[in-house]
Amino acid sequence: MSRLIDNFGRQIEYVRLAVTDRCNLRCQYCMPAHGIDIVPRQELLSFKEMYRLIRVLTELGVHKVRLTGGEPFVRKDFVGFLEMLSHNDLLDTINITTNGALISHHISKIEKLEKVKNINLSIDSLQRDKFAKITRRDVFPEVYKTFELLEKSSLNLKLNIVVQSGFNTDEILDFVRLTKNKNVAVRFIEEMPFNGKGQREMNENWTFKKILDQIKTEFYLSEIQSEKSSTSRNYSIKNHAGSVGIIPAFTRTICNDCNRIRITSVGKFKNCLFDDGVFNLRDFIRKGASNEDLKELFLSLVKKKPKTGFIAEANRKKGNVSESMSTIGG
Ligand code: SAM
Ligand code: SF4
Repeated sequence: MSRLIDNFGRQIEYVRLAVTDRCNLRCQYCMPAHGIDIVPRQELLSFKEMYRLIRVLTELGVHKVRLTGGEPFVRKDFVGFLEMLSHNDLLDTINITTNGALISHHISKIEKLEKVKNINLSIDSLQRDKFAKITRRDVFPEVYKTFELLEKSSLNLKLNIVVQSGFNTDEILDFVRLTKNKNVAVRFIEEMPFNGKGQREMNENWTFKKILDQIKTEFYLSEIQSEKSSTSRNYSIKNHAGSVGIIPAFTRTICNDCNRIRITSVGKFKNCLFDDGVFNLRDFIRKGASNEDLKELFLSLVKKKPKTGFIAEANRKKGNVSESMSTIGG
């Protein structure tokens, strides 16, 4: 079998697919208050097209997919798509990133899907008012209910917290305290300028190191040996049921072992979060490309994968990063 190997010997095994650009929330670090210009429905990949792209990728060695968005559960019959994707025998893991506001009644059904293993739940504050300020929607009670249901479920749960200067840095230790009795991986993410406007306005720069130092003011951390291509550095705390991780999304110290590619909701192929889209897969398949054509294409596209996110950013033709994470798929 041909495998997707880039020019730096990295084998691509993981694809992140944005199933929609739509979202029910308006997180301040992701998009402006009025939202983003969403594309007409016919410009989104259909579930059938997504299934096919993933199938071809799995025939080239990809075995993991993360479904994200926008908010994946905003897309009509997303759970049906999870079932459809589960039929791909070459896929062993389906992970989902969600804001949790629409999913509590789907959890028991999702639990039955063997390939769905990890749910990343985004929850940037444990305080209702602050949560509403950050997401611009008052949905904390529903998201917290999802959190509690997921915690009790058989799914592996990770919490995503974007660390935002002036908003939730005072809660970093509260989130770490959650891991005492809850078997959950709490992961802090450095804020990036993917917010629909491009600026990264902040009083203090909460880097990986600053977040780590803040946690160390109260806890003694032992580093956990993570998977080689992990996006986070992870730590355990003695007598805590859960773990803590930090994702250096902006300082990008994790690029060396990257095994990921991305497909946006309109079918743009991305080798890196920071590139500006390398190829329009949707138009290619809508013009009649065969699966063999697609395979050849994927094999050549990954050869263009830049060594790091900094190089990807420098190579952009469309200027500084400014697009919303919701259109890329986080
Ligand atoms: N709507 C879903 C959610 O919020 O989980 C999935 C899509 S969202 C774009 C995926 C992840 O990207 C979320 O954890 C979100 O917090 C994160 N994210 C969005 N914009 C970001 C930014 N500018 N910097 C860092 N992380 C960001
Ligand atoms: Fe929506 Fe997720 Fe972006 Fe928040 S981070 S606006 S929930 S896509």
